[in-house]
Amino acid sequence: MKQGTVYLVGAGPGDPGLITVRGLAYLRQADVIVYDRLSPVALLDEARPDAEQIYAGKRAGHHALPQEEINDLLVGKAREGKTVVRLKGGDPFVFGRGGEEAEACVAAGVPFVIVPGVTSAVAVPAYAGIPVTDRRLTSTLAVVTGHKKDGVEDGNLDWESLAQVDTLVFLMGVTNLPHIVGRLAAAGRSRETPVALVRWGTTPRQQVVTGTLANIVERVQQADLHPPAVIVVGEVVNLRDRFRWFDRPVERPLLGKRVVVTRARDQARRMSALLEEQGAEPIEFPSIAIAPPEDCAPLDEAIATLERYDWVVFTSVNGVRMFWERLDALEKDSRALAGTRVAAIGPSTARALGARGIAADFVPAKYVAEEVAAGLGDVRGLRFLLPRADLAREALARLLREAGAAVDEIATYCTVPGRGGRDVRALLEEGEIDAVTFTSSSTVRFFLQRIGTEANRLLEGVTVACIGPITARTARELGLHVDVAAEEYTVQGLVQALAASVERLGNDECGTMNDEWRET
Ligand code: SAH
Repeated sequence: MKQGTVYLVGAGPGDPGLITVRGLAYLRQADVIVYDRLSPVALLDEARPDAEQIYAGKRAGHHALPQEEINDLLVGKAREGKTVVRLKGGDPFVFGRGGEEAEACVAAGVPFVIVPGVTSAVAVPAYAGIPVTDRRLTSTLAVVTGHKKDGVEDGNLDWESLAQVDTLVFLMGVTNLPHIVGRLAAAGRSRETPVALVRWGTTPRQQVVTGTLANIVERVQQADLHPPAVIVVGEVVNLRDRFRWFDRPVERPLLGKRVVVTRARDQARRMSALLEEQGAEPIEFPSIAIAPPEDCAPLDEAIATLERYDWVVFTSVNGVRMFWERLDALEKDSRALAGTRVAAIGPSTARALGARGIAADFVPAKYVAEEVAAGLGDVRGLRFLLPRADLAREALARLLREAGAAVDEIATYCTVPGRGGRDVRALLEEGEIDAVTFTSSSTVRFFLQRIGTEANRLLEGVTVACIGPITARTARELGLHVDVAAEEYTVQGLVQALAASVERLGNDECGTMNDEWRET
């Protein structure tokens, strides 16, 4: 059998965006992925759905897999002909035991590839606004393990020499901090030397404690800061005052907040990215999924006779997606729309059309039914096709009919309960969720169903954010308190409203009533 290859891939320090292009490419191809606590979990979403994922780190109450077992696992799977990615936090060769894994491959004659990673030793201080070197202050940098070796306090570290190095970065040093500080001071380093500890750097949970060799131990105790953290010692730490960026509350008001995204799986990603930009940790929990309508015949007939329509008005990305799925099933393509004009109710829907080669003839400036109806001009005697959700109430159809148009509303998709995602019920029980977002009435209904009994009690201390007044009304009718309603009824508007609300939570106001759209 063909021998597989082991890829030792640096996953970066935590921000999933900090893996390398090459590392990501291997991750996407892997048959087997072996990961541990410091590899960013979000990267596993990049794996093939059928890839085997093996956790090698510590679990509550359990030890991590011993290194020899990890080595045997990597070699064993490669010998089965599998492509094995060993995903490692930071860089595989910076205190990552990558050497031992490479050694095992060499000994077994298994081919291997090393993909370097962005090490936490450099990147974590950077996300705290601390450059590990600076021309004005530093000409030497040392990266040091702060871990005890086989119970011996510091192996054979030469503290006299280390104390002379301008910038010192300690990994795995939190529990040993008092010892590190004591040895540096004893070796002559000034007690005024600035020190920073950065926990879960580059992630929404990033936490920073700063001080000096004289007071850092006390400050870390006060802050109750635990591993994993990087310790930086040296004058460069003071630059954080000027270079602080990632954890600045002004720019990332949602920093550290866990926000549940309830929309359908393939639409969640964009919203998650917007939340991440504001500093939040998105928790994807698809409450709904989009499926073809139960009866496709009316849609098929409309597609077969598209030339009868003057306008086709798409009111959601889902509508576009499912319309094209049906075109495809009928062995047709975008040319089927060549003879009619096409409208999109908002920019996302217009983009979805654009991706299929259709430049919308009309996109309203505001995404409300009145604007669309007004913008289409004189519609008397014109024929409209509105591909929409099976249950949706479209104020637009009514307005168009009132203006003298003939309108066919055709069910193009239906909403069914979603599956997968994180265990949000458990997170709610543990008080680990800060906010839940709803982007349509059906996300509210299906979310409550998925969480099950006591959903309302579990949501009591949690911020509930809705995309607009209709969704908010549904949430209230189902017994939820609504804390945030977007003024612009788009995902972007929702994320902005949530960010803006952080300082004034408890404000229970809604935008003016208007029809709102499942703009996606
Ligand atoms: N190979 C890794 C380091 C592994 S040693 C790398 O190159 O980054 C594990 C130590 O790395 C932890 O004890 C901690 O000191 C540091 N570390 C890794 N990721 C971190 C993060 N996101 N925030 C703070 N420290 C981190």
